Amino acid sequence: MKHFPIFLAVEGRRIVVSGGGDAALAKLRLLLKTEGRIAVFAASPAPEIVDWAKTGRLSLTTRPLQRGDAICAALFYGANEDATEDARTAAIARATGALVNIVDNLGDSDFITPAIVDRDPVVVAIGTEGAAPVLARAIKADLEGRLSPVLGTLARIGKTFRHKADALPMGAKRRDFWSAFYFKTGPQVVETAGSAGIIPALDALLDHHLAKGDQIGRVDLVGAGPGDPELLTMKARKALDTADVVIYDRLVAPEILELARREATLLDAGKEGFGPSASQTDINAMIVEHAANGAYVVRLKAGDPTVFGRLDEEIEAIEAAGIAWRIIPGITAASAAVAGIGQSLTKRQRNASVRFLTGHDMKGFAEHDWRTLAREGEVAAIYMGKRSARFIQGRLMMHGAGPATPVTVIENASRPDQRVVSTTLSTLSADLDEANLSGPALMLYGLAPRAAMLAASEFQTQDIAL
Ligand code: SAH
Repeated sequence: MKHFPIFLAVEGRRIVVSGGGDAALAKLRLLLKTEGRIAVFAASPAPEIVDWAKTGRLSLTTRPLQRGDAICAALFYGANEDATEDARTAAIARATGALVNIVDNLGDSDFITPAIVDRDPVVVAIGTEGAAPVLARAIKADLEGRLSPVLGTLARIGKTFRHKADALPMGAKRRDFWSAFYFKTGPQVVETAGSAGIIPALDALLDHHLAKGDQIGRVDLVGAGPGDPELLTMKARKALDTADVVIYDRLVAPEILELARREATLLDAGKEGFGPSASQTDINAMIVEHAANGAYVVRLKAGDPTVFGRLDEEIEAIEAAGIAWRIIPGITAASAAVAGIGQSLTKRQRNASVRFLTGHDMKGFAEHDWRTLAREGEVAAIYMGKRSARFIQGRLMMHGAGPATPVTVIENASRPDQRVVSTTLSTLSADLDEANLSGPALMLYGLAPRAAMLAASEFQTQDIAL
């Protein structure tokens, strides 16, 4: 580091600028944000500078800087856009002990002015020692976008609340409180209620964090159901209402995430059943880390968490960390799908048992007891079966299943974009190819949509939108 960044106390101190053109204007715009006493020396100052002088924001002397003018200056800017004049005036300023900056002349400057992101009292200074101004500007633009415009207001008001927040134990708990305030609650409150809402919001947030107390966090493994928010259990609603952290799978519908407590941190576990997934180990670690920090974690899984949800791996990790947990069941896709076609999963005289199968597992296509399944009247709900439809079709036919056995594929069950493809075992893969489904789909083997459901549909084709 050739330049050491510091924040210089300038309140009430003299800052002298020599020059009155564009270079001086650019520096003055920055300097006017400070509480320094600014003095400008320029033979022909730009009109803006004259205006600032008129309104008392700086003092202006309309002649070149002379010996004695820079007396007691803390900082001096040579902004004459003339190397000789810069050198002459800088020498005068330096003789009085001022730190000197010459615009666009790194070599003769004692200090450089960084790019600044101003959320006073929060100020970010970005410097590249003159090496990459473009980079400094890009970083500035990035931070400008990321830091709430009201961060300064929050910091100023937050400061007055510091003593109250000391009621929280030092460390993670206090940090969590402040980061929830600065990055979530605070900006939201200013937007909806203005800065008058900040202190009441701080009080409420502190109560919430104090209520969490010292106890170690806990985890609820919650079923989000098939997608329709009305198919959430009341327990799941309550869990979402009070969660500190919600860790959700990709299949969870956005409408359901909307129901999470406003201050909750939402984390995408980015995984869909057995599909291409974020590493399960990472997800386990994420759950444990937040709960160990005292958070109430809602692990939100599509459908029912106990069905093809790799629930046991998560429970084992949570238990190993000594954290309390419980399961809140949800409506599994099979229940929503079968409801969508007006059928039931079991029926007297037809089938006294129903299987929940997965089309593929982590090793590829999943093997099952095809012989039993191929018997007349069997019903199975096949999860993750889209890609393995051809394989399933082949296995079942090989074991003697009738080619006319009904198969119904329900995509986006319970959602407004639900689609039903009604077919038979022999035409299954061709019809699926043609339907080109892109959402989650459940295959009901051995069941056709009830005739009334078909009749009620607008379309009398095999691909019906219910
Ligand atoms: N735990 C979930 C299943 C996770 S496995 C449950 O109980 O429903 C993921 C598979 O579930 C998907 O590949 C798809 O087969 C099925 N699925 C989940 N939501 C669905 C929906 N809304 N419609 C149809 N199938 C769905």
